Amino acid sequence: MLVAPHRRGLGPPAPAAPGLPDVPRERCPFCPGRESETEATLAQAPAEGPWAVRVVDNRYPLATPTSALTGTSALRGAHELVVETRAHDLDLPDFTVAHTAMWLGVLAARLEVLAARPGIATVMAFRIRGRRAGSSQPHAHSQLVALDRVPSSIAQRDARARAHLEQTGRALLDDTLRDELADGRRIVRDAGGMVTHCPYASQHPHELRLVPRARVSTLSALTPAALDGLAAALVDATRRLRAAGAGSDYNVLVHEPPVASRGAPWTGMYVELAPRTTTQAGLELASGATVLTLAPEDAARSLRAVAP
Ligand SMILES: [Zn+2]
Repeated sequence: MLVAPHRRGLGPPAPAAPGLPDVPRERCPFCPGRESETEATLAQAPAEGPWAVRVVDNRYPLATPTSALTGTSALRGAHELVVETRAHDLDLPDFTVAHTAMWLGVLAARLEVLAARPGIATVMAFRIRGRRAGSSQPHAHSQLVALDRVPSSIAQRDARARAHLEQTGRALLDDTLRDELADGRRIVRDAGGMVTHCPYASQHPHELRLVPRARVSTLSALTPAALDGLAAALVDATRRLRAAGAGSDYNVLVHEPPVASRGAPWTGMYVELAPRTTTQAGLELASGATVLTLAPEDAARSLRAVAP
C-alpha cells in the first residue's frame, strides 16, 4: 500500500466519465512556454535545442530519494514525469513512428539511470490516458517510478517465469508467444519483430500485449530496429483501439523484471495496453477473479478488422 495523502484530489473520483480531464491549453503546465510551472528538466530529447520530449520530477511524487511517505516503513525511490510531445492535444495514435521511438528511447534511458541508483530494486514506466486510466492532465504524458523494493505482483511474475525455466528449460514468454502464434486466433498484428496479441487470459476487454520476437530483459536492450518496431506496433495498436471505440481511456505498461533479475534467461520485457472501459464489481473484489465481457478471440478479430 502506498499511503500518499499529499496526492488527495489529484486523481479522478471513481467511476469517472470516460475522456480527458478539462484543462484548457492556456492553463496546461506541460505546454511549451510554461516549463517553469513544472519541476526542473532532468532530461530531454533531442539533447540540444527545443525539446520534443521532456522529463521532470513529479511534483506529487509517490516516492523520492530521501523522504519517506506516511506509513510504517519508509519507501524510497523516484517518480518522474515525461511530457511526450509539445502538442497539447495529440495522443499516441496521432504520433509519428519516429516521434514514438524518440519517446521510447527517453523512457529506456531514464529507466537505466534509475535502475543504476543504489538501493533501487524495481523500475517501471507507464502511461495513463483518460480519466478512467487516472489522468489529471490531458496533455500526453507518461511516468517513471523507481522503488527500493519489489512489489508483490512483479515478484510473483518473476518467480513464475524463473520456475518455468527451471522446469522446462525454456523462457515462459517464448512458450506463450509460440502458443499464441500457433493458435493464431488472438493475434492482431505480426510485423517489424513485434507481435501484437490479445492475451489468452485478458484482464480487460480489448487488452493487448506487444511482445518482441527476440527476447530481451529491458526496454534499453532492444536494438534500434526493435525499438522502431515497438514504436510502430504501439501507434498501430492505439489506432486500432481508437477505431474499435476502446481508445479514449487506457494505460500502457512497460513490464520489466526486478533490477536483480535483469538479463536473467527467464526474463523478457513486453508492453501491455489496458483499455479502461469497465470497472470492478462485487465478484471481482470478493474473489480476485476477473469477469471479462469480451472474449479475447472476439477482441482480436474486431481489432484485426479495423484499419489502423
Ligand atoms: Zn498542454
